[in-house]
Amino acid sequence: MKIAILPGDGIGPEIMAEAVKVLNALGLSFETETALVGGAAYDAHGHPLPEATLALAKAADAVLFGAVGDWKYDKLERQFRPEQAILGLRKQLGLFANFRPAICYEQLTQASSLKPELVAGLDILIIRELTGDIYFGQPRGRRSAVDGHFPGAEEAFDTMRYSKPEIERIAHVAFQAARKRGKKVTSVDKANVLETFQFWKDVVTEVHAQYPDVTLEHMYVDNAAMQLVKAPKAFDVVVTGNMFGDILSDEAAMLTGSIGMLPSASLDKNNKGLYEPSHGSAPDIAGKGVANPLATILSAAMMLRFSLNQEAAARRIETAVKAVLAQGLRTADIWSEGTTKVGTREMGDAVVKALA
Ligand code: NAD
Repeated sequence: MKIAILPGDGIGPEIMAEAVKVLNALGLSFETETALVGGAAYDAHGHPLPEATLALAKAADAVLFGAVGDWKYDKLERQFRPEQAILGLRKQLGLFANFRPAICYEQLTQASSLKPELVAGLDILIIRELTGDIYFGQPRGRRSAVDGHFPGAEEAFDTMRYSKPEIERIAHVAFQAARKRGKKVTSVDKANVLETFQFWKDVVTEVHAQYPDVTLEHMYVDNAAMQLVKAPKAFDVVVTGNMFGDILSDEAAMLTGSIGMLPSASLDKNNKGLYEPSHGSAPDIAGKGVANPLATILSAAMMLRFSLNQEAAARRIETAVKAVLAQGLRTADIWSEGTTKVGTREMGDAVVKALA
């Protein structure tokens, strides 16, 4: 097993060091190789995703990614911005299924802005299609309007589109994931207004015929946004397109109140994947040793489960994280009265200790 380690920018290197420490403590045999990505790679090599980093990611069985970005790169041309590294990796590795679990740990219910009874025990999985939709559809651009309310005025436009195979493969991923959980899929669309999403709904329904043991419900995206804050525990697996998924997965993350706790995975058709915390590079706290490494540590657990076939090791990490929370240890982002505040490194050490 070979794991590409891409720490990135901001808090990336700090949180990655803890995840690597936890991986090394498992006693498994794997090889790791580290490379620069994002702003750090731009500074060193003039590109956020240098050839060598891409080659390493392609050759590895899985990629563990920290975070990229810093405000100091905001003025760069788009192609050189750190965030382009993630888009490039998704594209080059054929990663089309984004898994964003939103789990609310018992000990952290007070971190949510919702009432504890609404989120206690929350465990939902948002699966977002990553390669299609209005984010990538062509044509797009600016032009002079030929019709509409203001002919001749300057306008901008994008194209929303999904092909049948794109919808089919993400639907299969969702039904298969649901089989390992609560056996329910909510497909989120906007079929009442958009042709693309009527098609989405039709194709998901067709694929569902192969999964009679899984319940399928359809929900409009506006209703899904409401239900996520009204009764989030009613969801199990949510599957949706790129844009709706982008928005709903962040909304779901916030239900837990602690972005520093949430892992994510982006998988290809063979379950090779890129694993990263759901949060960004947090430049405001970088270098201070206070960042929460648990999202990255839990991303490593997802990597063991989905790409490296090491379910037992994944569970060991997840159990260790729960044990550390039960001990009352908290980084600043999840700290509350009566708990013990620890730094990034202490949190990583505590997880390693709890593994034993
Ligand atoms: P962010 O997620 O980096 O930070 C938002 C807030 O959450 C900040 O106050 C930060 O301190 C806090 N936070 C985030 N992760 C934390 C952790 N592990 N522990 C404790 N606190 C944590 O989002 P932002 O501030 O909007 O973006 C900062 C940079 O990150 C930008 O350059 C943005 O483009 C980039 N970004 C990168 C990714 C990625 O690498 N996948 C994702 C989102 C944003």
